[in-house]
Amino acid sequence: MPVEVLGKSTEELREFAASLGEKPFRAAQLHHALYAERRFAFSEMTNLPAALRERLAKDASITPPRVLRKFPSVDGSIRYLFSIGAPAGSASESPAVPKPAQIEAVFMPRDGRQTICISTQAGCAVDCHFCLTAQLGLIRNLTAGEIVGQVLVALEENREKLAPQTNVVLMGQGEPLLNYDATMAAVRILLDPKGVGLGPRHITLSTSGIVPGIERLAQEKIRPSLAISLNASSDEQRDALMPINRKYPLAVLLEACRKFPLRPREYFTFEYVLLGGVNDTPEDARRVVRLIANVRSKVNLIPWNPGSLPYRPPTPESVEEFQRVLVDKGVPSFVRYSRGQDVFAACGQLALMETPSPFVELR
Ligand code: SF4
Repeated sequence: MPVEVLGKSTEELREFAASLGEKPFRAAQLHHALYAERRFAFSEMTNLPAALRERLAKDASITPPRVLRKFPSVDGSIRYLFSIGAPAGSASESPAVPKPAQIEAVFMPRDGRQTICISTQAGCAVDCHFCLTAQLGLIRNLTAGEIVGQVLVALEENREKLAPQTNVVLMGQGEPLLNYDATMAAVRILLDPKGVGLGPRHITLSTSGIVPGIERLAQEKIRPSLAISLNASSDEQRDALMPINRKYPLAVLLEACRKFPLRPREYFTFEYVLLGGVNDTPEDARRVVRLIANVRSKVNLIPWNPGSLPYRPPTPESVEEFQRVLVDKGVPSFVRYSRGQDVFAACGQLALMETPSPFVELR
């Protein structure tokens, strides 16, 4: 059975190289070819000697997510539908190969940078009621290689038009802190200056509020920025929208945030999806101000994206008023209109949807 190398750390590649009788510097070369040069075939790793390339082609594998379809939006974003794991019915289907699944990532170019939103699980078990992904249920956790692979493939796909800066947001399908080890292994590769080489402020992990995961993340030397999906101004409201709140209520969640060791000039981001008539009144905004007092934070307001769920977007006036209350109380607050709405790429819309818009079918 070939050894999958995508997702392995420098240390793991060193152990693999040693198992082949190769010196540690060969592992560093393999690491560079995989993550810095984004080579997905050993034959293209021209920094390795030909004999080693041939051996690796026999003894190892590189399995990036396969692009099944891409859905370009009129705003320039592209939603990718990826297939991962062993192709169903293939000879390589075995207990050692993760089972086949489909996931999504979104590439969003803008103003000298690209932001790539990636998935950490196929589906999700958390069951936020405003989120289409929740309707899939949890299919399975992704491996580190499948998580980092989404970034590498999205960059390769857009190689000709890449801007100098890349941001990655772990806000696609899944709750990253419920797939902690694989997510953090992928984050370390993304942050490794000899790997993908992103800056720590350029990766944001978004959580529904898994408190033990937040506490674990607080212990990490190398970690992404943290965003909390708040979406409610009271426990009663949050219990109704996000059942996870019954396990980790607001007081417990916000205490974990207060204890979290922020870096100098670092802010927590609280995300707040504004649902018309549900959580968008000025009184909600005043309660949010009280809830997040003493947490160095900013609030991203995300007007609800119309979809098949029984919610309605907030009015432009209620969005403006909500933001005004926050800003008047000294809370930095920004309105984020989701991108890619026409191709179901927007926040809370990632649910393997087909789209009425034109898309590029690859196979
Ligand atoms: S919002 Fe995030 S955590 Fe909640 S169900 Fe959707 S994918 Fe899961």
